[in-house]
Amino acid sequence: MRTSKTQSPEKEIEQLRAELLDHDYRYYVLSEPTVSDVEYDTMMKRLKDIEDAHPELITPDSPTQRVSGQVAAGFEEYLHKRPMLSLDNSYSIEDLRDWARRSTKLAGEREFEYVAELKIDGLSMSLVYEDGILARAVTRGDGVRGEVVTGNAKTIRSVPLKIKASDKGDKGDKGGKSGDIPAEVEVRGEVYLPNEVFERINREREEQEIPVFANPRNAAAGTMRQLDPRIVSDRKLDIFCYQLLFDGAPAFATHNEALEWMDHHGFKVNPNRRLCSSIDDVISYCEEWGEKRDGLNYEIDGVVVKVNQMAVQEELGSTAKSPRWAIAYKYPARQVSTRLLDVIYQVGRTGAITPVAVLEPVQLAGTTVSRASLHNSDEMQRLGVMKGDWVFIEKSGEIIPQVIKVIVEKRTVRRPISVFLPTALSARPAS
Ligand code: NAD
Repeated sequence: MRTSKTQSPEKEIEQLRAELLDHDYRYYVLSEPTVSDVEYDTMMKRLKDIEDAHPELITPDSPTQRVSGQVAAGFEEYLHKRPMLSLDNSYSIEDLRDWARRSTKLAGEREFEYVAELKIDGLSMSLVYEDGILARAVTRGDGVRGEVVTGNAKTIRSVPLKIKASDKGDKGDKGGKSGDIPAEVEVRGEVYLPNEVFERINREREEQEIPVFANPRNAAAGTMRQLDPRIVSDRKLDIFCYQLLFDGAPAFATHNEALEWMDHHGFKVNPNRRLCSSIDDVISYCEEWGEKRDGLNYEIDGVVVKVNQMAVQEELGSTAKSPRWAIAYKYPARQVSTRLLDVIYQVGRTGAITPVAVLEPVQLAGTTVSRASLHNSDEMQRLGVMKGDWVFIEKSGEIIPQVIKVIVEKRTVRRPISVFLPTALSARPAS
């Protein structure tokens, strides 16, 4: 990001919007981002701050005012009956409390509950059932128009092709030609890639010498855009469903009942959700899952908090970009991009020699990072890393950050690093 305090607000806005648009294209269409989410979010926040200070400069097409995303070439477009919105983000417990206070005030001090759900890091999908049969699957696209990906969605084993009858006697089971199911049921959910599948896909891409995906979300989005459903089928995508509409309108008086209905009718709903009576309950849930997230076999980037009562949801309404009745509480980012300045070699206690990337210092998950592991010479060769390259680094369950991808698009000069370590030397000796 090249913004300057001396620039006029008009110029800076123009520059930020152009950059964000370019990143949206790389992220949503190509599934090949060249900046990390934190950097993208920082640019978006800067744009929002300038627009807040100069409301006369806000335009309806600003990235702060609309859902980001596009429809890729090669897919049929579909106009969503109800827009598929994004979510507002909060990065601290205090932001979360502010949102709860604002919502309570907007709801006229009426009491309501919350539902806290894991924020699955994938892409959202709308599944429309006509008379109980899956008629169409559509991506979020730009929120108004999505891509029809029915063939691909049908390869996901957990997407029911026909809605299962429930033996639980749910309230919504009335009307519709197929017995107890309403004529049109729309189920929205998050399509994601389990971590082990993501790792397998990247291994295969390495073997084929094609760029690896930066994270499971990009890999899931890239997979959904494949024009050949056989490839999609092989990738083993999965889905967690989180929203239900009957004939275009909210199905039940509460969100929790909607989740239960989906659960009882054969849809995969994430079991780690919680009905909370207060924002303090929600905060405990966020803290609990912040600790437990590494134990899941899929990536989450936070918690989504929703008002449970539909009447209150309707009252709070939405902006063109996101509902006011929900908010995403985001966990500290685990991935950032920075510059690789050099590679040094470290000899460990066991005598194993490890190449280590010396980085331009960067903030990551609460610490300043200036070194990251490159594991061994094979890994260095696989990454194709050169001096001065921009790289994505990641801190997951492990403490030491890893270099996971070189952002080749940002390379300006080629400064190869001679990999002088024989593989045998870099391998860890048996203990
Ligand atoms: P988002 O991912 O922050 O949140 C909204 C989405 O969360 C929803 O659309 C839905 O798909 C998903 N979601 C997951 N679990 C859910 C649940 N239980 N209930 C409801 N929704 C759930 O917003 P977004 O608009 O999809 O993406 C914007 C974000 O993407 C940015 O903040 C940025 O972090 C990232 N981004 C990065 C780049 C880049 O170049 N690195 C570019 C564009 C966007």
